[in-house]
Amino acid sequence: MSAPWDETYDVVVVGGGGGGLTAAYTAGLAGLRTLVLEKADVFGGMTAYAGACLWLPGNHITAQAADGDSVEGALAYLRATVGDPALEDRQRAYVSTSAELVEFLTRDPAIRFTYTPFPDYYDAPGRVPNGRGITPQKVPATELGDLVDLVRPTQAADRLGRAVRRRTLHGGQALIGRLLLAISRLEAVEARPAAPFESLVTSDGQVTGVTALRGGQRSRIGARRGVLLAAGGFEANAGLRRAWQGRDAHWTNAPATHTGDAILAAASLGARLAGLENGWWATNLVYPGAAHPGPAETSAFVVGFRGGLFVNGTGRRFANESLPYARMGMEIIALERAGQPALPIWWIFDDRFPTVPAIPAAEPDRAAALAAGLWHSAQTIEELAARLGLPARDLAATVARFNSFAATGTDEDFHRGEDEYDRFFSPGAGPNPCLVPVDQPPYHAVRLELGDLGTKGGVVTDADARVLDEAGAPIGGLYATGNTTASVTGAVYPGPGAPIGTSMVFGYRAVRHMAAGATG
Ligand SMILES: Cc1cc2nc3c(=O)[nH]c(=O)nc-3n(C[C@H](O)[C@H](O)[C@H](O)COP(=O)(O)OP(=O)(O)OC[C@H]3O[C@@H](n4cnc5c(N)ncnc54)[C@H](O)[C@@H]3O)c2cc1C
Repeated sequence: MSAPWDETYDVVVVGGGGGGLTAAYTAGLAGLRTLVLEKADVFGGMTAYAGACLWLPGNHITAQAADGDSVEGALAYLRATVGDPALEDRQRAYVSTSAELVEFLTRDPAIRFTYTPFPDYYDAPGRVPNGRGITPQKVPATELGDLVDLVRPTQAADRLGRAVRRRTLHGGQALIGRLLLAISRLEAVEARPAAPFESLVTSDGQVTGVTALRGGQRSRIGARRGVLLAAGGFEANAGLRRAWQGRDAHWTNAPATHTGDAILAAASLGARLAGLENGWWATNLVYPGAAHPGPAETSAFVVGFRGGLFVNGTGRRFANESLPYARMGMEIIALERAGQPALPIWWIFDDRFPTVPAIPAAEPDRAAALAAGLWHSAQTIEELAARLGLPARDLAATVARFNSFAATGTDEDFHRGEDEYDRFFSPGAGPNPCLVPVDQPPYHAVRLELGDLGTKGGVVTDADARVLDEAGAPIGGLYATGNTTASVTGAVYPGPGAPIGTSMVFGYRAVRHMAAGATG
């Protein structure tokens, strides 16, 4: 006979990020006794770092603001960009549940969203001009009271040690704050920080509960309706990153708690894993100072490059610098696969910009970055090349060719500035606002690495977020969402808000399935 439970709930949610808290709210409102286990001493995971644009097509907010957003259009767009028929069932479930989820959440006065222009990442059928993203409305800290201390700090504070005052919470901070506020009003839900999930408990092949730690003590927690794994990916697990991706965990944007615990636990029960090589790729700016063990540098997401050009170790450009970040990541990976010098990338711009011409998580401290060799400045391109260890003639030729493109407004090599997304961050005038000449010394070079906004491979799930075994059959009582799963968008990052949007929708669908009483 198995040991008795120390506690019993209807639903146990593993991970208190965007997907997990959405699911817990849904379960609590349905009257299901719900426990959220969060490994960190704060909630939010990577969602708390995010801008929290949400790709939830066809909802009532985009219906008024976005030009032509629709469920069928979004499906066509996913078909054109992701294009994997095996994922179509889940994609339909995702897109056709998005409006229902937004309507459901906004019935609660604590949860509010606004349309936010941010173009989809591909020029493909079904794309909507200016995108179809919504973001949580900002929320004053006073409205959250003590709950604000339970929201993971911003990336600038958490990773880069910057002093960030949180009088008002924005983006992912606001999403997590709002969800915590809504949950705090539901008696049925307990959200428990500093309570790492350890393993799944089964009976007759059915998941019936979990083991978790609390104050260092292990407890067995029963889950009558099901367990939802919403614990992020394996971003910060150096061994898994090496084994599954051949990559270093060091440049991830994820908090250190993201070590793939839930994926490993499900795999130990025979869950099928897929897409492990995939990531929501991003360019990261490198800063002095270690956030994790390893090299003396750390890094954080940087977006919206409106000046300069990128070169690899050959001193040459290799892609359109204004590409959406995940597509830039894929270009870098393509270089690696072709055996070409890929990383680090040097981002070269001139002195017309008083600081890095983009939107970093935090402004780099130029003096500290110069001292650490992460930023170089020189009066000539040849001198800059010497400092970077790049072939001077090639770098000079690259900059001269780029400047000739800036003069004509046409990037003959990589078509920078031709897409709506490119121009979104470069609204200026001139023949092509994305092509700003590099001709005002001193010249600057800043180091970039390939980061991620999450790994996106993991357990394979069905349209109701049920975890499937190797034979494709659901493992009873076990559900998963977000970066714990093999993403419904495969290897592709189709548009802003897909990571959190998909995590929220499948967390919601999992609970709806559990609430219907049909576990497994
Ligand atoms: C700077 C930045 C900007 C971004 N902007 C956007 C954006 O605008 N839109 C978008 O969609 N995406 C964005 N992303 C990506 C997005 O934030 C993540 O991919 C997404 O939040 C993942 O959500 P999730 O629900 O899978 O998990 P998370 O929200 O990351 O939560 C997982 C949680 O599980 C916990 N956990 C892990 N292991 C355990 C365990 N053993 N026991 C208990 N708990 C555990 C973690 O501590 C964490 O709190 C951004 C990311 C970054 C870094």
